[in-house]
Amino acid sequence: MLKSTSLITGLALFTLSAGVADPSKNYYREADLVQPKVRDLLKSANDALNQGDINKTLAYADLILVHQEIKYSIDTTKVKDGREAEARQAALDAINGWQSSLEGQVKFKEVPRNEATVRINFVDSVREMGREVAGYAVWQRQVLDWGQGRYSAKLSGDIKIRFTTPTGQPMQPAAMVHTTAHEVGHLLGLWDSPNYGDVMGPLYLNHPVTKPSLREVNALKAARAEAVQIAGAALQVQSH
Ligand SMILES: [Zn+2]
Repeated sequence: MLKSTSLITGLALFTLSAGVADPSKNYYREADLVQPKVRDLLKSANDALNQGDINKTLAYADLILVHQEIKYSIDTTKVKDGREAEARQAALDAINGWQSSLEGQVKFKEVPRNEATVRINFVDSVREMGREVAGYAVWQRQVLDWGQGRYSAKLSGDIKIRFTTPTGQPMQPAAMVHTTAHEVGHLLGLWDSPNYGDVMGPLYLNHPVTKPSLREVNALKAARAEAVQIAGAALQVQSH
C-alpha cells in the first residue's frame, strides 16, 4: 500500500525567438544548464544516505538516472496535410538524439498511449500564458513510499509540440526535432539555456538545433555521475 509520495513538478514553455542567432552572445556555464530541482534531488538522495535509508537513497538517485526504460507515446492524430509521418519522424529523431548522446545510459521505448508515462502530442498551435510558443512540457518526478522501507521512483510528463508556425506555415521537420529534443531535455533534468546551438537554447525557425550540444550532454552526465556516486555509496553500505 502506498504510504506517501514526494512529488516534484515542473513546467516549461518553449518560446519562439524572433531575433537573429548570435553565437558570440553565448555564455558557458554547464552547471547552470541543470535544473535547480535536480540539485534538490541529489541533496535528498544524500540526506537519505546519511540517514542510512538505502532504498530511499536509490529511489531519489533513480529519478535522475532513470534505470527503467522511459515509455513514451507519439500522438500525431491532430497533424494535418498528410504530415503525420514527418511529425512522428521528428519526435523519433529527437529521442534517438538523446539516446545516442547519452550513450544508451537512458533508454526510451515507444508504447501505446495508455501505457505511456511520457506523452508527446503534436498540435496545431500552442498558446500558453497569452503567447504563442513552440512547445510546452509539464513533468513530475515522484518518490513513492510503499512502507516497510520500500520505495520506487516515477518520472512522467506531457509534451506538446506544434506543427504549424504562428503565421500558419508548416513547421519544418528540423524545428520539430528541436522542440521535441528541448522538451525531452526538460524531462531529463536540463533547464533552458541562453545559448544558440543548444537544444535547450532558443528556437530560431531558420536555424533549428537538432542534437544536444556537448556542453548539454556534459552537464547532464555530470549530474548523473553524482547520482551514480551516491547510489554506489548506498549499495556499499547495504553490502556491509
Ligand atoms: Zn524550455
